[in-house]
This record gives sequence, structure tokens and C-alpha cells, in this order.
Amino acid sequence: RAKESGRGQMSLYEPAMDEKIERRRQLAAELHGALQRGEFHLVYQPIYDLAGERITSCEALLRWTNRRHGAVSPAEFIPIAEDNGQIVAIGNWVLHQACCTARDWPAHISVAVNLSPVQLRASNLPAVVISALDSTGLAPQRLHLEVTESVLLEDVDASLAALKALNRLAVNTTLDDFGTGYSALSYLTRFPFQTLKIDRSFVTDLDHSPASIAIVQTVVDLAAKLGMRTVAEGVETAAQLDQLRRTRCDAVQGYLLARPMPADMVAAMFAGTRLRAGNG
Ligand code: C2E
Ligand code: MG
Ligand code: MG
Ligand code: MG
Repeated sequence: RAKESGRGQMSLYEPAMDEKIERRRQLAAELHGALQRGEFHLVYQPIYDLAGERITSCEALLRWTNRRHGAVSPAEFIPIAEDNGQIVAIGNWVLHQACCTARDWPAHISVAVNLSPVQLRASNLPAVVISALDSTGLAPQRLHLEVTESVLLEDVDASLAALKALNRLAVNTTLDDFGTGYSALSYLTRFPFQTLKIDRSFVTDLDHSPASIAIVQTVVDLAAKLGMRTVAEGVETAAQLDQLRRTRCDAVQGYLLARPMPADMVAAMFAGTRLRAGNG
């Protein structure tokens, strides 16, 4: 019986692999020209400050609606764009677009933009950031750049130099998805981050796992001692939010508070108005 089901899995496995490779090939081909065809847009998810009970920033999240494949998740297409180098042009567009949109928000609201490791390693990153800020007029303090920890140890010197250069521009740097991958507490003292984002996996477990509560508390306390702000991502339940308040985490982000939304809805939210369908 075990053998039978094992064989069954093998025969299912191979075509599935072929399909994956074929889809990846098709998406890579479709990524060419996707910018020019206007297939990308950004959605923005509010980040709430717990002490002030107000929104202090929004994270820009990239969306791709392809003419042939429809909506494709960034988790699927960003690795492809990183492999074939297209992430550089796409990332520049994201940066410019996010700064342009955020410039019209109230002055105390920042925008958080995700940077690919490929962008972080590019020697022209500071120039690209300066260009986005200068051409849109967004104050550098209002731009937060998020990088995931996996990138840091691949090339410690280059990562450190890039982060320092960003800090010299007065841009805020955020360590994203903290606690996943090869995370080490030493990152926090080695690299100049102003903000630390606690990964959703810990937040999800807050509901039922005392160990996760202890981990989150430890991370929040350590970050505070090192002068960093903490943001918890992926908050979905009131119980998680209560727990995060108790840990004195600075800010929260998640479906419980708000989903990522289009730029016009964010603008309407800040303007204190409601968008009405058919209202232009
Ligand atoms: P991330 O930077 O960690 O972004 C948070 C992800 O969690 C987003 O997924 C967001 O929609 C999702 N999320 C937010 N709140 C909740 C929640 O309460 N529950 C759950 N289950 N999920 C929540 P998304 O938009 O699919 O993006 C996935 C990842 O793709 C991002 O993770 C980021 O690493 C990458 N990404 C997105 N946009 C960009 C971009 O413009 N450039 C680069 N380089 N990467 C991007
Ligand atoms: Mg992020
Ligand atoms: Mg994250
Ligand atoms: Mg994440």
C-alpha cells in the first residue's frame, strides 16, 4: 500500500514540476513589457501606532495584473523578476510611484517600500533614492525602506554600506520579516535599522503559544533598548492585538485593522471622506 501511494505521488509529481517550470517561463516572458503596458499598480496597507492610536505610515505593496495570466502574487513574480534582473526597473518604478503618492498624504504619514536584495546591492541605490525623492518632493524622513534579513549575510559589507548610505540620506531603514530565515539577534546591533518588523508567523502564534508571547516580548524589549521601533505584521485577531499592546510593541499592521487598498481609497481615508461609486 505504501509503495502504491508512493508511485502515485511520483507520477503526479513530474507533470506538476513541468507545469511549474512552464508557468515560470511564461511569467518571465510576460514580465518583459509589463511596465510599459501599465500592468503594475501599488496598494497601500496602513500601519497603526499603538500609543497614538493613529496611522503613521502605509506599506506600498506591488500588484501585477497580466493580460494573459490575470492577477499574479508578488510572492510568485518577484523572485522571477529578481532572477532575470527586471526587478531593478520594476523596483525603480515602485519607489517613484510610492513617493509620488505619499507626497499628497498628510505630512506625518510615511510610506514604506520593500527593497529587493538585488536593489540593495546595486551601487546606484542612493542615486535612485535621491532621484525618487527629488522628483516627487517627498521629505526623506517620510520614506521607509524595508529589507528582509536573508539579504544581509549574503554580503555583509555591501549590505552595511548600502544601509549606511540610506541613513545618510535621512531615509528610515526597516528590517522586514524579523525572526524568519537565518535571523540572529546580532543583526540588530550590526546593521543600522531604525525599525524592526516582527514576522507574521510570531504574530499568528500569539493567540495560543506562550513561547511566541515570550519571543515577541523579548524582541520588543531588545529593540527598544537599542533605540528601534517595532512593528508587528499580519495582525488578524483582537486577541493578537491585545497581546501586542501588552508587549508595548510600537505599531501594528494587518487585516484586523486594514487591508491593502488602492491609492485613491487611501487618499479618501486621509481626506476623511468616503469614495462613492460612480462619483468620478
Ligand atoms: P511583506 O513585505 O512582508 O508584506 C506583507 C505581506 O503580508 C503582504 O503580502 C500583505 O498583503 C500581507 N498581509 C498584510 N496583513 C496581513 C494579515 O493580516 N494576514 C495575512 N495573512 N497577510 C497579511 P503581499 O502583498 O502578497 O506581498 C508579499 C511579499 O512580496 C511582501 O512581503 C514583500 O516581501 C514582497 N513585495 C510586495 N511588494 C513588493 C515590492 O514592491 N518590491 C519588492 N521587492 N517586494 C515586494
Ligand atoms: Mg514589507
Ligand atoms: Mg513583512
Ligand atoms: Mg512578510
